[in-house]
Amino acid sequence: MVVTRPFPTPRLDQVDPFLLLDRMGPVAHGPGEAKGAPDHPHRGFETVTYVLDGAIEHADSQGNHGRIGAGDVQWMTAGSGVIHSEMPAEEIRRSGGRLHGFQLWVNLPRRDKMMKPRYQELRAAEIPRATSGDGTVTVTVIAGESLGTHATIDTRTPIMVLHIRLAAGTHFEQPIPETYNAFAYLVSGEVSFGDRPARENDAVIFERNGDTVAMTSAPGAELLLIGGAPLNEPVARYGPFVMNTPGEIRQAMLDYQSGKFGEIG
Ligand code: MN
Repeated sequence: MVVTRPFPTPRLDQVDPFLLLDRMGPVAHGPGEAKGAPDHPHRGFETVTYVLDGAIEHADSQGNHGRIGAGDVQWMTAGSGVIHSEMPAEEIRRSGGRLHGFQLWVNLPRRDKMMKPRYQELRAAEIPRATSGDGTVTVTVIAGESLGTHATIDTRTPIMVLHIRLAAGTHFEQPIPETYNAFAYLVSGEVSFGDRPARENDAVIFERNGDTVAMTSAPGAELLLIGGAPLNEPVARYGPFVMNTPGEIRQAMLDYQSGKFGEIG
């Protein structure tokens, strides 16, 4: 998988409560080239998968299986533990095809780390979308609120995930709760946040000193604007397990090795 990873990096461990952002592609695979992530576990956080092009097939130890296509979102709360596989759709693996998507890892607060796993899956047509009065701004509201439109996804802690499309020559101001940590990721085009310009694949982390992110785009732009209330809890992470203490990580490994996460049926 061709992945761009703004964080974690050696310089930026997390944007509390967000643990990781991956951009997969965009890439055009040839026949037999597309690789995915076969069976692997998660505990203690949530994975949010947002496909923009192509399709991903998933199956997991909770008995869920299905397909996430262009514009669809899967919000998986791993909680106490799941094993799942995430693979490019069979026809893309076989015959080749385009793939483009994002995966965001959202940390769970201590009280929810061992909750029962939960899935929320929304088809593109089910995700609320808002458009500004003059039609220059369109926002897909995956989590949180924009332009008076509320998301239908239920989050464990206050979180906003917006996919914003700006027409050329647009100025837009998005309110963000003052307590949130927030960042933007440029999917395409160019945009300026105040005097800070950003281009494709730039991640811009905002300081918590205002309640509005103002953006101006001369050529037009497409970006993710992601924010959330920080957990301010200790983070112990080891690969697919994210807990509060090293002891809880050891327990996760033991539980996984002894089969307590179940298996993909
Ligand atoms: Mn996974």
